Amino acid sequence: MSTVPARTSAEALLADGTTIELRPLGPDDHRAVLDLHAEGMSEESRRLRFFGVSRNAPAQTADRLCAPRPGLLALGAWAGDQLVGEADCEPADDAPQSAELALAVADRWHGKGVATLLLEHLAHGARAEGIRFFEADTLFGNRAVHQVFAGLGLPVERRYAEGEVRIRIPLEEGDERYRSAVDERGRRADIASLTALLRPASVAVVGASRRPGSVGRTVLGKIRRGDFTGAVWAVNPHAEDIDGEPAYPSVRALPAVPDLAVLAVPADAVPGVAEECGAAGVRALVVLTSGLDVQEARGLMRACRRHSMRLVGPNSLGMAQTDPAVRLDAEFGGAFPRPGSAGVAVQSGGVGIALLQRLAWLGIGVSSFVSLGDKYDVSGNDLLQWWESDGRTDLALLHLESFGSPRAFARTARRVTRTIPVLTVDAGRSTAGRRGAASHTAAAATPTVTREALFRQAGITATRSVDELVEAAALLHVQPLPAPRGAVAVVSNAGGIGILAADACAEAGLQLPELPAEIRELLPSGASVRNPVDTTAAVGPTELALFLRALEREDAVDAILVCLVPTALCSAADQDPVRALLEGPARRRVPIAAVLLDQQVPVRYRTCADGGMLPAYSDSVAAARALAHAVDRARWLAEPQPVPVDAPGCDRPTARSLVDGYLTAHPEGGWLDPLTTADLLEAYGLPLTTSVWARDEHTAVAAADGLRRLGHEGKVALKAYWPGQVHKSALGAVRTGLATDTDVRTAYREFARRFGAELAGAVVQPMAAPGVELLAGVVQDQVFGPLVILGMGGTATDVLADRAARLAPLSERDLTTMVTELRGATLLMGTGGAPPVDLAAVRSVLTRLSRLAEDFPELVETDLNPVIARPDGAVCVDARVRLERRPSFDPYLRRLRRPSAAEGE
Ligand code: ADP
Ligand code: MG
Repeated sequence: MSTVPARTSAEALLADGTTIELRPLGPDDHRAVLDLHAEGMSEESRRLRFFGVSRNAPAQTADRLCAPRPGLLALGAWAGDQLVGEADCEPADDAPQSAELALAVADRWHGKGVATLLLEHLAHGARAEGIRFFEADTLFGNRAVHQVFAGLGLPVERRYAEGEVRIRIPLEEGDERYRSAVDERGRRADIASLTALLRPASVAVVGASRRPGSVGRTVLGKIRRGDFTGAVWAVNPHAEDIDGEPAYPSVRALPAVPDLAVLAVPADAVPGVAEECGAAGVRALVVLTSGLDVQEARGLMRACRRHSMRLVGPNSLGMAQTDPAVRLDAEFGGAFPRPGSAGVAVQSGGVGIALLQRLAWLGIGVSSFVSLGDKYDVSGNDLLQWWESDGRTDLALLHLESFGSPRAFARTARRVTRTIPVLTVDAGRSTAGRRGAASHTAAAATPTVTREALFRQAGITATRSVDELVEAAALLHVQPLPAPRGAVAVVSNAGGIGILAADACAEAGLQLPELPAEIRELLPSGASVRNPVDTTAAVGPTELALFLRALEREDAVDAILVCLVPTALCSAADQDPVRALLEGPARRRVPIAAVLLDQQVPVRYRTCADGGMLPAYSDSVAAARALAHAVDRARWLAEPQPVPVDAPGCDRPTARSLVDGYLTAHPEGGWLDPLTTADLLEAYGLPLTTSVWARDEHTAVAAADGLRRLGHEGKVALKAYWPGQVHKSALGAVRTGLATDTDVRTAYREFARRFGAELAGAVVQPMAAPGVELLAGVVQDQVFGPLVILGMGGTATDVLADRAARLAPLSERDLTTMVTELRGATLLMGTGGAPPVDLAAVRSVLTRLSRLAEDFPELVETDLNPVIARPDGAVCVDARVRLERRPSFDPYLRRLRRPSAAEGE
């Protein structure tokens, strides 16, 4: 167990946005612990000094905490070099699942959330070591500590006795109330820390040279011209003035400490300048410099963490804040965006420029823009939280190439997408799938599948290009959401165009409902109201307006797509159907999108009579896709808040001992043998069929005798086993439907002949009754966590390639949509008069698999194929599990990123 949390270090934010380092205490920290208890705390604090140790002198405490003992977890909170708090726990000898907790925070640091942060990390570390309860004695009058406990979000049990309170805190895993409390603390701390970056009162541009066209000078000029409301200073040791304004030789020499520093210095100067900024008290950095080597990256990170600075970049294009109270244009990408309500964060600067340009053409204003660059620290997750509460943003646009901590991101996004649409360009789709994977599940879990699952489960609108993103945003930004049913009425003044648009809608997954015949009366003779509606080119403006008004009131219609082609008949101004459209309202009961075939740009807004905006597209494919994204969002919002499902009766200790037992014997990891696999699955209530091990022909025959009566039609299956085998049937290692002793004996002899010395033995199983063969599996993605797969299974599963994938934890909704999404879903619902399969049993398999993988990151691949689903239940007849040592990891623990570029080897 190498990197157990609370045994390693991490950085995290306090409530006021200060960065704190959390790291285990050791012999070198004796002095600091002594100082904390002796000088950092008043007499009164020491008296209240919580629990057990409270009566001990500071020296004894320091002795106790700094001498490493197995079992003792002692975590220090450091602000720079100063120890500002400490939390520790040690399991009781007689009750190893309970640990006595102690906690101390320097007086000056009270009220900032140091204790809470320490407890979150300590609880996580304790859990990873098998501790299930914190226990502590506290003084009755110690209000501060009682508040800390009450606010944690964990249940607190109290017992009162003679002025003392005995406290017991169960460290439940995955408790939603606790996670929400942690989320909320994280959100506040994050926003506090980002204020200096996104609403700075003063800015320094370091490395602003006199050379026109240089990055620093460009940014400096933009900040000045952009009318920044705060102070802006140039730092350049080689120039006395830039553009007529004074330049200062260093950050220290500035008239005041800037909130934000923008760095445009050579890579080798970055760590030094960052350190200087930090020492001076700067609170945020935007690093435009690119090409930092590992040493430089590390130096930059160290300065940021040590001095509590949030960092954008390196390799950033800068940032912009359009709030009139700030008006900061600190980027060198393009024109200062118009103020508005779209939050934009991009990883690639080029995509940022393209995106801002398109938004400008379209007329969507920007609330804030951040070019994340190499994303050492500030990431999409931070920006989502900022926009969620900045009071200005109602549309979030992201371009992300990588995810530092996708599970935390997904959790934030899931919350934010409830209130504002979050759109992303899904980059990196073409990454080749995992070739040569040894299980069907692993083969199915390509990076694309994983990302899609993330976006879908978080309610993020994922698009395939910058244009598609802008086209979808254009609709979502100004039009109401359609009803989740997604029934579209297509109206055109030229039949063929209407048919193309209808095809585009159908291909985008939208429905085209039948329209009532009566509304035909409103149109010229020769018109057709079979959806698509053909108004004919003879339609007059009044007719079209009346028709649209009638259409929007139809219950069958959730959205309208109007496609208009200019014809010779339209050229008279009073005959122009486009004018008729614009003279109507833009905001109707249902969303409306226009396709204007003579429009030159892909999408633009047209202003309507009510002052509202109508998105107009040049192509019906784009319009239909935008509508489909809106429908997806409506569906997402209509679903109840996803709650993680529960899998009762999972025997974690048994599974733990099986996993540890295997990994102790095989430190390098590998595939479990069939019997251990069976025990492991059984511990989590997964329905593996009875499997008996036979090491030779005679035991096989004897086992088959016992199992035959359990088998369908009194038959058994026999499967050859040897360590490292992959797919058995293809090698002739599976014999099914064996009815007699002779059959079994013959089959075993055949195995012996075929596989020779390799054959370790065979598994005998009763034959399961036929049903629908499914694949159920889960793989651990190093960063995304467990990905659960359901698909059509059996030996042809890879050929069928019919699968649905979701990231753990699964919600009820995930379980439902996973089943319905399969092309083969109809087989499960019952075809040709057959009853449907037991879907509850299938859902239970998925839930338990997901829980197993969440509880044991060591289970890197688990493949149940097939799970035979029938009306009376589901049973698995073949399971494979691969184990690997993996550190325990809580994706939701509050900690700042550790960029791999700055870790180095
Ligand atoms: P592999 O996937 O390694 O080829 P399986 O154990 O999955 O081997 O067996 C292959 C196929 O044989 C299964 O997809 C299933 O159709 C059938 N089969 C295997 N065991 C049983 C059993 N106990 N009952 C019914 N059918 C079985
Ligand atoms: Mg199989």
